[in-house]
Amino acid sequence: MRIDLHTHSSASDGTDTPADLVREAAAAGLDVVALTDHDAMSGWAEARRAADEVGITLVPGLEISTRYGHRGVHLLGYLPDPTHPALAATLDRILAGRTERTPAIVAALRAEGIDITEDDVHREAGGSVAAGRPHVADALVRLGLVADRTEAFQVLLDPGRPGYVNRWAPALEETIGLVTDAGGVAVIAHPWGRSGGTVLDEEALASLAEAGLAGIEVDHQDHPPEVRARLRGIAADLDLVVTGSSDHHGLGKVDHDLGVNTTDAEQYERLLSLARNPLDG
Ligand code: AMP
Ligand code: FE
Ligand code: FE
Ligand code: ZN
Repeated sequence: MRIDLHTHSSASDGTDTPADLVREAAAAGLDVVALTDHDAMSGWAEARRAADEVGITLVPGLEISTRYGHRGVHLLGYLPDPTHPALAATLDRILAGRTERTPAIVAALRAEGIDITEDDVHREAGGSVAAGRPHVADALVRLGLVADRTEAFQVLLDPGRPGYVNRWAPALEETIGLVTDAGGVAVIAHPWGRSGGTVLDEEALASLAEAGLAGIEVDHQDHPPEVRARLRGIAADLDLVVTGSSDHHGLGKVDHDLGVNTTDAEQYERLLSLARNPLDG
C-alpha cells in the first residue's frame, strides 16, 4: 500500500484542481491520498468523486495555520466533521484574515515601488478560498519581477522582507482540541521543517501529546535524515503515530512529487482507528 497523507489543490495554494490531483495520485501508483488544503475543506467533494472514479482512497483533511506563541505552526487534521460549529467558525476567521491580508500585502509591495494590484493576485488565486502569499508570489512571477515562488518568498514575502504581513491564527493547543472534538485526528505538520525551526522541542511535543495530538509528520522533504531519525525516536517515546507525505503543491513547490514520502500501512490504520468519524462517512 502506498499512502500519501499531505497534498494541496487549487482549493488553497496547489496548482492542480482537486480532481486532477486525485487522478495524478492514482497515476503515481498511490492507493491512498489525503487532501489537506490550507484552512479549507472546499476541495473534498470534487476529490471524492474523482477518487471513486479512479478507485483510490481519499482521506479528507486540511492543514490549519495555527500559532505557537507568536510562531506560525501548521497542524494537519484528518476526518474532522466539516459542520462542527467551533471548527467551522475558526476556519472562517482564518480565511477572513487571509482575505484581509491580500490588500495589505499589495499596499506594502506598492510602497516598495512594485506595480502589483489586488486583481493580479485574485487572478492567480482563482478558485482558492484561502488566498495566500503563494498567489502573490505567482502574480510577481507573471509580472516578470521574480523567477519563481521561492525567489518571491526570499526577496519579498518571508518574515522580515518588505511584503510580509501577519494575519490572525488560532493557538495550536486549542486547534488540536477542535480537530479532536470534531471527531478527527490531529497530526503536527513538518515540525522541524524550514519554517518550524526549533520552536517545537521534545518538551513542547510532549505537552501537545497531552493536549490530544495523535501523530507527527516525520517523513517530509523539509526534514533531513538525522531530523527524521530524532523525530521518529520522539514519536516512539510519546506513543504517537508517524506519518510521511509529499506536501505536494503541483507546480508550486519543487521536489514535492506525489508519493516522494509515504506513510506505513500500520501507522495509517492506527491513525484511522483514532478518528471518531469513519473514512466513508
Ligand atoms: P501563507 O499561508 O499564505 O502565509 O503562505 C505560506 C505558504 O507558502 C506555505 O504553506 C507554503 O506552501 C508556501 N511557501 C512558503 N515558503 C515557500 C517557498 N520558499 N517557496 C514556495 N512556497 C512557499
Ligand atoms: Fe502551501
Ligand atoms: Fe505546511
Ligand atoms: Zn502543506
